[in-house]
Amino acid sequence: MADKLQKEKLVIIGGGPAGLTAAIYAARAGLNPLVLMGPEPGGQITLTSELENYPGFPEGINGFELMQKVIEQAEKFEARLAYEVVEEVRFAGKPYQIKTDVAEYQAESVIIATGASPRRLGLKKEEEFIGKGISYCATCDGAFFKDQEVAVVGGGDVALEEANYLSKFCSKVYLIHRRDQFRGTKILGDRVKNNPRIEILWNTEVREILGEERLNGLLVENNKTMEKYELNGVRGLFIAVGYNPNTKLFAGDLELNENGYIITDDQHMTNREGIFAAGDVQDPYYRQVVTSASSGAKAALEAGKYLDSLE
Ligand code: NDP
Repeated sequence: MADKLQKEKLVIIGGGPAGLTAAIYAARAGLNPLVLMGPEPGGQITLTSELENYPGFPEGINGFELMQKVIEQAEKFEARLAYEVVEEVRFAGKPYQIKTDVAEYQAESVIIATGASPRRLGLKKEEEFIGKGISYCATCDGAFFKDQEVAVVGGGDVALEEANYLSKFCSKVYLIHRRDQFRGTKILGDRVKNNPRIEILWNTEVREILGEERLNGLLVENNKTMEKYELNGVRGLFIAVGYNPNTKLFAGDLELNENGYIITDDQHMTNREGIFAAGDVQDPYYRQVVTSASSGAKAALEAGKYLDSLE
């Protein structure tokens, strides 16, 4: 139960690139923001091995390191970072109410930047074998599969990055993709195609996760020829098939699109006055660190204008 009630001008929910960039802008504008960092401080990008396309880092930068710097920068401008997880919100009337595992807040304005989470394939044993051969993050778990065979599912940038990463220390990587062309960028696709340790299984889907105590192979099917076969040597499966937005908390209170993303206007405002959304929670298309950071900045500028208009 909450044991204190705190009145706030601006609460930012989420501590990834969007939330923390919003915090930097809001703090510098004197809005004294409170950032509720959530269950994954730094956001999804902390799980990425190397960012090669974030401006200002020609040698690339590790996602975790980048977010450490962003946290440092937000704290330098005295944004208050609270390592709390939001459990409930009430946005039907003002002031807006937010309850975390530690406290309860009233806010005049809110920026939601709760990001997105990895999508499941929906296979039997998928949940049961998480940590027992199944992973959604090669950077986190890849090292457990040194010198072993693994498979990656997906054809987007994340799957391509993960396949390349795993090929550095796994004996073999199968890249299983349901179509005959990648969705991810050409440069990453070419790297995968030219990598002798990666075998691409085009038009292929995983039908069954094999094994009793832990993953011990896969049953796959070519969706063109309908041929089914087992990959018996595979000990690790890295699932990289996209994300679902983290919007469960807001379902009754805010307008969401058919895929669960928060709908905002050009100023990042939701259907509730003074409540803004930024980053992957409202952007199913770009999902880059740089675009998330940018939308966090815009949301903070708009929140500032909104709070000014109340005075
Ligand atoms: P994407 O949506 O780009 O790709 C998801 C892939 O998974 C697609 O190839 C899709 O297949 C496949 N897929 C989806 N559902 C299933 C399913 N049920 N079974 C089998 N396959 C499935 O997601 P990513 O996670 O790869 O990337 C998300 C975003 O993050 C992208 O915009 C990407 O560019 C970005 N990104 C940015 C980085 C950066 O800032 N440096 C680094 C990495 C990623 P199909 O193609 O057939 O639809």
